[in-house]
Amino acid sequence: MPLSAIEIYKQLPKTNCGKCGVPTCLAFAMALANLKAELSSCPFASEDAKSALGAASAPPIKLVKVGAGGTCLQIGDEKVMYRHEKTFYHPPPLAGVVEDGWSDATIEEHAKKVCGLVFDRVGQMEGMNAVAVWHTSPDPARMAAAARAAQGASGMPLVLVAADREAMAQALASVKGSRPLVVSEKPASNAAMVALAKEHGCPVAVCSDGGLEGLVDEAKAAKAAGVDEIVLLMRGDLGALLNDMIMVRRLAISKNFRELGYPILNVVEAKESIDAVLEASVLLMRYSSMLLLRHYAPELILPLVTLRLNIFTDPQKPIQVKPGIYQIGEPGPTSPLLFTSNFSLTYFTVAGDVAKSKVPTRILVVDTEGLSVLTSFAAGKLEPEKVTKALKDSGLESLLAKKELVIPGMVSRMSGKLAEMTGWKIIVGPRESSGIPNFLRNL
Ligand code: SF4
Repeated sequence: MPLSAIEIYKQLPKTNCGKCGVPTCLAFAMALANLKAELSSCPFASEDAKSALGAASAPPIKLVKVGAGGTCLQIGDEKVMYRHEKTFYHPPPLAGVVEDGWSDATIEEHAKKVCGLVFDRVGQMEGMNAVAVWHTSPDPARMAAAARAAQGASGMPLVLVAADREAMAQALASVKGSRPLVVSEKPASNAAMVALAKEHGCPVAVCSDGGLEGLVDEAKAAKAAGVDEIVLLMRGDLGALLNDMIMVRRLAISKNFRELGYPILNVVEAKESIDAVLEASVLLMRYSSMLLLRHYAPELILPLVTLRLNIFTDPQKPIQVKPGIYQIGEPGPTSPLLFTSNFSLTYFTVAGDVAKSKVPTRILVVDTEGLSVLTSFAAGKLEPEKVTKALKDSGLESLLAKKELVIPGMVSRMSGKLAEMTGWKIIVGPRESSGIPNFLRNL
């Protein structure tokens, strides 16, 4: 049962020092009760308070780590229902499925493919994150060889899926220390997989054919057996599945129902690529914490990683590029110089249009706190003073033969003051980025 704000307050130091970011201990207790704060924000909480309040301050959805070392994946630990309330924290990893019924060479080929599916999306490298080894062979010993082959070829964290205890035991022994996610393929194998996960110190995914009540029972049993990092494997008809996934999230976040406060693992079952994209997209949007994909063609993965990037970008922090000078082609002393904002979408649109012109050009990216040109101008974050300073700091003055700066047409109003402050010739460029190729060719 979650603690009330008053019960939490009784455990706090009651000094109202404000170090936790709110003015009083009572306000902090209320934030804790509503899962809007973490106990670690109070540096003065006693050990007794920490153990008493541990559950109250724990995230509503358990953080689960899959893998070990630098490639370890984190799933769960979400705190809100909707992205605009705060942000989502852990983008669901995409795992490509290989089967131990395949030859080692085929497994290696697929694992390398999974590993190589990486795309540059507005300056961020996005791709698949894990390989899932699914036990389909009649020979339990095959799973160990398959797990080794997949791990060796990809270097990625593993997800091991089986209903056969012996196959899972051998696979876990063969990739010891790498903390794969142990997935119980069938409800009947839950207990055996939980025991193996406990023995090897791995996270475990359990499933149920008894609806959400059944899932609660299975998660409770796994916890009682001593495994702390639990994942809910949820499969089935997409419509019913979505309802259940929304219910799990709502119960965990809004009702603080700990028995379902675990990340969700899904398997994309669709056979055709386009259907798989649709199914995976819906699951991504409605609270999947990790997806196993049987198909991983580039045309499936690119929209998925783009969607994932959009959903899991902090809405309060626009994606930004580092302010500074960027070169497109090999510009010389007489090449054009443009400036733009450091909002990633703006920069990459401008950079793409400059590249289209085939005119070697420099782009001065000004720090606008991640806002687009017009928004930052309207918000007073893109002023002639700032552009002048960026220009001075860039050191271009001594490098360029022509002291000319092309400014976005949207902010033509700053041209006079900018010319005055910099002493440079200011050329007003096109209003839209799409006009840049023609503009540069005719400059
Ligand atoms: Fe109270 Fe701790 Fe916050 Fe200080 S930091 S106001 S003691 S809860």
